[in-house]
Amino acid sequence: MADMIIATEKTFDKDVKESGEMYLETILRLQEGGVPVRSVDIAEAMNFSKPSVSRAVKILLEKNYISLDKHKNILLTETGRAIATAVFKRHSVLTKFFLSLGVTPETAENDACRIEHIISDETFEKLCEKFDTPTV
Ligand SMILES: [Zn+2]
Repeated sequence: MADMIIATEKTFDKDVKESGEMYLETILRLQEGGVPVRSVDIAEAMNFSKPSVSRAVKILLEKNYISLDKHKNILLTETGRAIATAVFKRHSVLTKFFLSLGVTPETAENDACRIEHIISDETFEKLCEKFDTPTV
């Protein structure tokens, strides 16, 4: 898992790292719903405009984190899925941690979803020792 997080640091340039991770995490979650994921679904889920989602999709395609099938549905590549899974793990562990402090579920989720992109590996590993969840 630590290796995966290091890979995340390397594969995204600083500026796009956070938003790239957010997109991949969103795509992973949408995919788990079992329905094909389209740009419009991402725009809706993230509350972003369609043009900004199109721009992000283009970057993610260039970086080979996602691919499109013949119906233009968005699929995660192996690398994209690895990053999304690592982010989602940070999301679940951080959420559990905040809930354990008595934070309300909504705030716990929202804070986790921001901190998951910037937390250091060192801190995250310590959190995992206490709040690890079974891997997805
Ligand atoms: Zn999140």
